[in-house]
Amino acid sequence: MESKKVELIFEKFQESNPIPKIELNYTNHFTLLVAIVLSARTTDVSVNKVAKELFNITDTPEKMLNFGQNELKKRISSIGLYNSKARNIIALSKILINRYNGKVPTDFDDLVSLPGVGRKSANVFLNSGLGIPTLAVDTHVFRVSNRIGLVKEKDVFKTEQSLLNVVPKKYLLYAHHWLVLHGRYACKAQKPSCETCIIHDLCEFECKRYKV
Ligand code: SF4
Repeated sequence: MESKKVELIFEKFQESNPIPKIELNYTNHFTLLVAIVLSARTTDVSVNKVAKELFNITDTPEKMLNFGQNELKKRISSIGLYNSKARNIIALSKILINRYNGKVPTDFDDLVSLPGVGRKSANVFLNSGLGIPTLAVDTHVFRVSNRIGLVKEKDVFKTEQSLLNVVPKKYLLYAHHWLVLHGRYACKAQKPSCETCIIHDLCEFECKRYKV
């Protein structure tokens, strides 16, 4: 896609939502990381349903360890993959205490070394928690950016690298959130809302039956 069009797309995203926010609820860096781990292959809405009460009790790694894996499992049992997520959260809490003085590290490589924290999760944490202009590619970002023609890549890693090249620097901080929210509410997987889409005149998606 030509750079002028890319610029216009992000201009429109910015006009419609100048300061987009992560939709996961959290209270500090630790609870943000836990919420991100819980959100893997699960909607933010489901995570938020259990997070409020959970974070009242477990807002530090120490409190999470005291709470324990079995209680944690019960508390998050409505969430997909809750067994492995509980195991990972307890394991990462131990590591934060033993290796990072109870704090969440701010280095990408340290983050991805934690159980349950992959490349996408680390980038979401750095972007949403620390305001670093990283570009986490989740299912929405992958679909939207390839569908509309921002990039043309076959896998998540290449999509991330290409987006880092094509998204103008001034829009990088919020690019992840804009693409996520656009994918979640407008450019949905099955029935994209092209007729009301704010970037329909710039989008290169070829399925005309969705076009205005
Ligand atoms: S016009 Fe349709 S396909 Fe293109 S970005 Fe908008 S919703 Fe998605």
